[in-house]
Amino acid sequence: MIKKATFQEKFDLIEKGHYRRIDIPIARLPSHTLIDMPVFVYKGKQEGHSLLLTAGIHGDEINGVVTLRRLISEKYLMPDIGTVIAIPLVNIYGFLQNSRDLPDGKDLNRSFPGSQGGSIASQIAYILSKEILPNIDFGIDFHTGGSKISNYPQIRCVLSDEKNVELAHYFAPPFIMESDLIDKSFRKEAAKNKKSILVYEGGESLRLDELSIQEGVRGIKRLMHHLGMKINKDIDLSRKPIILQKTSWTRAKIGGIFDFHVLTGDYVKQNQILAHITDPYGSQKYSIKSTKNGYVIGINHMPVVNSGDALLHIGLE
Ligand SMILES: [Zn+2]
Repeated sequence: MIKKATFQEKFDLIEKGHYRRIDIPIARLPSHTLIDMPVFVYKGKQEGHSLLLTAGIHGDEINGVVTLRRLISEKYLMPDIGTVIAIPLVNIYGFLQNSRDLPDGKDLNRSFPGSQGGSIASQIAYILSKEILPNIDFGIDFHTGGSKISNYPQIRCVLSDEKNVELAHYFAPPFIMESDLIDKSFRKEAAKNKKSILVYEGGESLRLDELSIQEGVRGIKRLMHHLGMKINKDIDLSRKPIILQKTSWTRAKIGGIFDFHVLTGDYVKQNQILAHITDPYGSQKYSIKSTKNGYVIGINHMPVVNSGDALLHIGLE
């Protein structure tokens, strides 16, 4: 039997100045349909940085998928210097089922480094850890808010890590915020291997958000420009991101109908009324005031909330 070429063998065969789509086989569905993960590799004419772009690790977070799709169809990702590896849709299973997770109920982003003989989530994590991470220097992993929470475009990284902060400023989203490395996440696995992966969050799951998609496209173009991978004289480099050292959630004190009066991205002042929680019958109205000056970086879009639910994510400079 002829041995099939590995991802690495196919990757190494791509010549400078060329691009190739490599489909990594994942597994077969119970219907016997083969699921594979298309990986787009662009090698510039000169050697340089290797940048990874991933989206759809959570299968219901589609803004990042569209962001990468646009850049692929624009034929933008071929760098002059260095290599770009783009995986627009990592969790194909979740994508098919409008689900964050895999059919095994596991969250791929809590399954790293994974194992070859583990659950589907673990097997995909293993492929990213073993086949992809060794070929990159750094990357951006595209996400959205989960479970009805909409995030204003933001990069999440470790602010005490100089490389993280440098890359985040190159990308220049509206907000850059501190976020600890979560156990078993792709970002933490990369950090263990001395590779910086930053998480971009924009919009919410199961809903396309044009602003988040456009900010993502612009961010990748700025990042490639500043890294010297692809110079672009037409992009706006004037954005000065707002750095949020701390963020906190305003939670519901009582359950009811959540009616907010601010938008994500808004600057709010201490004691400003941000929202009301009412009962359905007009007898109760509870005001939610901001406890500090800060920016609204996330809003819960569930109209009906329970006591203790996270409602508004406020970032402090
Ligand atoms: Zn996510």
